[in-house]
Amino acid sequence: MSKTNVYENVKTQFERAADLMQLDPEIRRILSTTANEIVVHFPVVMDDGHVQMFTGYRVQHNGVLGPYKGGLRFHPAVDIDEVRALATWMTWKCAIAGLPYGGAKGGIQMNPIQYSQKELERITRRFTFALGSNIGPEYDIPAPDVNTNAQVMAWILDTYLSMMPPLERNRCVHVVTGKPIESGGSLGRDKATGQGLVYIVVAWAADHDFPLAGARYIVQGFGNVGSWSARLLKPYGAVLAAVEDHTGAILCSDGIDPDDLAAYVRAHGGVAGYPRATAIDHHTFLSTEADFFVPAALENQITAETAPWLRVRLVVEGANGPTDIEGDRILQERGITVLPDVLCNAGGVTVSYFEWLQNKRSEFWDLDEVDGKLYKKMLSAYRKVRDAVKEYDTDWRTAAYIVALRRLEKVYKERGIFP
Ligand code: NAD
Repeated sequence: MSKTNVYENVKTQFERAADLMQLDPEIRRILSTTANEIVVHFPVVMDDGHVQMFTGYRVQHNGVLGPYKGGLRFHPAVDIDEVRALATWMTWKCAIAGLPYGGAKGGIQMNPIQYSQKELERITRRFTFALGSNIGPEYDIPAPDVNTNAQVMAWILDTYLSMMPPLERNRCVHVVTGKPIESGGSLGRDKATGQGLVYIVVAWAADHDFPLAGARYIVQGFGNVGSWSARLLKPYGAVLAAVEDHTGAILCSDGIDPDDLAAYVRAHGGVAGYPRATAIDHHTFLSTEADFFVPAALENQITAETAPWLRVRLVVEGANGPTDIEGDRILQERGITVLPDVLCNAGGVTVSYFEWLQNKRSEFWDLDEVDGKLYKKMLSAYRKVRDAVKEYDTDWRTAAYIVALRRLEKVYKERGIFP
């Protein structure tokens, strides 16, 4: 499937929900397109002295609910359509989670493993400089995504602050979230997306007579979202049967210990070669018999080709856009419930919001406070979506979109369109 279709997927999902809820046609027109698209080409000096050009993106989809918010991704597949799609999903996600943010996303088209740490730092800093005032603490606030982390956020922060007049600097620390704790990050941000996903699974399981103790599951992607989801599912007694990442796939019928695997991945860069499991291929991984599947890697993994392979009852989307339109249709036909990305992975942006609030107020919350507030936000989003599933007699993805679109429609109706 071509990358262009990621954006087509979002549009199709949007149209379906807009039809069902009879979204006002004028508001539908506004939400059908992105607000701003920034593409920057910038030079960076490599370690050997030669200059390489890079292409970076920041797409701001909609800002009616508040400042733009969304991650930055460093990956070879980053292109304008992928970033448009990811920015649009952020608008829905923030609306569902009840956050005062609009949706944005950005990234650089590159493979970070090809660069040294020093080169990555210069690439990140030069990208931040190129974005200039297109980001800002009350305007557009980046965060980590695929192949970016707290260290990358610290470089962005430092570069942004260095570009500000000295007396402005201390009031701009919330220009990025997902920072290291010492640089103004929040406790609980690292695990937040996995934590939010687990809160959703637990709530759904309680509503659907689906005991998590002894439930078997498989995870694709063992980075931030995949590994934290698995580690936080462990206390519920769920059994991790198989894992796949960019280095390969592994299976152990007796269960894989997520903490042990996370330590192995930290040391070896991927799951391949993990000694307490057997190597399997992609088809065997996706066909593993289990109760649920957590895709937590990239888009378009569950498709017309792969959806028939799945042997699970539930898909819990940790990644953004892991299921394409045909994949969704096949899962629905097969009676497999899909809990959508815009609900399940909203924990990341929610704790980013908490970090932003702490920075603005010069506060530092303890982990219990962060987790408690995250739980409330996730449960409230879950209940709104669950109610929309019943009210519209529809699937969870369409219901989640309806929750988002209702909120956005209300705000547009209250405010009107300038002039
Ligand atoms: P990450 O870089 O920490 O991890 C990505 C994982 O995907 C790695 O384990 C990698 O090996 C795996 N992967 C890459 N290509 C693969 C392939 N072809 N097949 C199988 N596995 C592959 O990234 P992350 O932050 O965990 O993000 C994962 C997904 O979750 C993305 O879709 C991202 O947009 C989404 N997400 C992340 C956050 C967050 O807070 N980090 C929040 C919301 C959504």
